[in-house]
Amino acid sequence: MSDCIFCKIVKGEIPANIVYENEMVVAFNDISPQAPVHLLIIPKKHISSAVDLNQQDIKEVIPEIFLAITKLAKEFKLEDSGFRIVNNCGREGGQTVDHIHFHLLGGRQLQWPPG
Ligand code: AMP
Ligand code: ZN
Repeated sequence: MSDCIFCKIVKGEIPANIVYENEMVVAFNDISPQAPVHLLIIPKKHISSAVDLNQQDIKEVIPEIFLAITKLAKEFKLEDSGFRIVNNCGREGGQTVDHIHFHLLGGRQLQWPPG
């Protein structure tokens, strides 16, 4: 989508600190980190939110996202201490960018419940 900031990151039209990329997904540092490690993992394909995933996305895109997450959790040394994966969906879910993304947060004790 031409006016989507995450599509622009995928296309290299706006800068991001990309920490992982393959054919289907990109991971980069969140611009406003809420923890020592705060990455966003996104599909290259524009999917607006979790409610817009189709059967093929669930079979093909989501596994790639989670493969990237497990790889990055190890790379950023979070596998023993733990971490959190967050997907905000829709207005009340706190979603502010309408291109599905998974936050990977770690490097400090995280609190529960979220606000
Ligand atoms: P959410 O509130 O779940 O939709 O998360 C959107 C996230 O995108 C927020 O944590 C923002 O800090 C982050 N964000 C917005 N613009 C950028 C950008 N240009 N580069 C990196 N992260 C961004
Ligand atoms: Zn997009």
